[in-house]
Amino acid sequence: MDLCDQPIHALHRQRLEGAISTAEIARSVLQRIDAVEARLHAFITLNTDAVLPAAQAADRRLAAGETLSPIAGMPIALKDIYVTRGMETTCGSRILQGFVPPYDATAVERLKAQGLNLVGKTNLDEFAMGSSTENSAFGPTRNPWDTERVPGGSSGGSAAAVASGEALAALGTDTGGSIRQPAAFTSIVGLKPTYGRVSRYGMVAFASSLDQGGPMAKDVRDAALLLGIVAGHDPRDATSRDVPVPDFTACCRPELGRLRVGVIRGLQALGEIDPQVTAGFAANLQTLRELGAEIVEVDLPHLDYAITVYYILAPSEASSNLGRYDGVRFGVRAKGVRSLQDMYEATREAGFGPEVKRRIMLGTFALSAGYYDAYYNRAMLIRDLLREDFRLAFERVDVIASPTSPVPPFKLGERMADPLQMYLIDAFTLPANLAGLPGISVPGGFTRESLPLGLQLLANHFREDQLLHAAYAFEQATTHHTRRPPLP
Ligand code: GLN
Repeated sequence: MDLCDQPIHALHRQRLEGAISTAEIARSVLQRIDAVEARLHAFITLNTDAVLPAAQAADRRLAAGETLSPIAGMPIALKDIYVTRGMETTCGSRILQGFVPPYDATAVERLKAQGLNLVGKTNLDEFAMGSSTENSAFGPTRNPWDTERVPGGSSGGSAAAVASGEALAALGTDTGGSIRQPAAFTSIVGLKPTYGRVSRYGMVAFASSLDQGGPMAKDVRDAALLLGIVAGHDPRDATSRDVPVPDFTACCRPELGRLRVGVIRGLQALGEIDPQVTAGFAANLQTLRELGAEIVEVDLPHLDYAITVYYILAPSEASSNLGRYDGVRFGVRAKGVRSLQDMYEATREAGFGPEVKRRIMLGTFALSAGYYDAYYNRAMLIRDLLREDFRLAFERVDVIASPTSPVPPFKLGERMADPLQMYLIDAFTLPANLAGLPGISVPGGFTRESLPLGLQLLANHFREDQLLHAAYAFEQATTHHTRRPPLP
């Protein structure tokens, strides 16, 4: 296996033993980018010139006897929704083209403090709105497992980069599934932390009460490692919670113990599930059972409302958050206009893509005086009921398991004509965002056509330790995470 195909913790061990250097790791990643990026288009901005020097700097520090962070000098990518000082941040939108932020997001700052070697900024659905990365203004990313198919979204660029060895790991963001679903589509690990666990400061807002950043990695231990770095209280984000950050890598123990795993009664009622997804999930449960888990059915009576509630609340928050893109403060400004009003309209008309416009209109409508009670307020009430459903379920179980996505990776263009078909993809992931719960997707197997499937686990608030423990034990009992995609 090439160095760029290995997880960070394994590479770090080898460099401490003197078997390899960080520079060799960097060269392996750079060669892979040369080989596959033209076909995959995982990145919006590449920072390749800086990758080898940053790796060599880590090697010098190691040679000088310094204790290195496992991530120091290791090529890592960031979804292009994290602001980066001095490096363009577009959110996959034309409206932010040319925007060079004057500061770093807190998560980025924390990675830099550990010696981040930034490979580049990865492609995404415009403002993270989508499930396939086809909504990027800069063209879609392709799935390394089958380049005719989507890598999922909205963090599809990060997922494709990690799966194909163009980066060792990445950060994504998840508002309704955007870390977990692309992780499932590319057979990597994606973790959405508890709302409030990771600072949102400098993570460009889509729907503020749902957004949460987290790691996308080649295995569970790397996800635990990265989470430990980016997690923790940040006074610059008022919703960031001041709770202790345990050593998450210590949760990576192969024996499962007496874990109670909940499966949701009536999950099929949420919409069509591909038979190969159902079969893969049954096999995943069998693995958990063999590890000693007790499988318990749980009821989440308000789950069928989740998609409806999400597609009222997320667009409502988006319509407010995106009001700042007015041509005055960030990015592009329309020229040749006659008035201020004209300038606003022309900037937004040219700057936003169709999905973003659709969300702004939906949200503005739901928040308008005549409809606020009928839509926004009612959705907020149901959100509380769903939260309560989960609270009761977690009195009986430690984690809740489901497939990450009802379908395997689909073909480019297949779901673009009908937005509703795209929205339905999030049925299993977005309930966790509405309830603020942590969730992880781990490689769960493959279809007959060798397309990846994901197993999703959810845990109670701030129980990432249980999530990582269950995910690690599952991962170690399988070989799915060791398989790599064919090179395009
Ligand atoms: N696919 C969902 C949406 O379009 C979720 C996206 C996300 O998690 N950022 O809103």
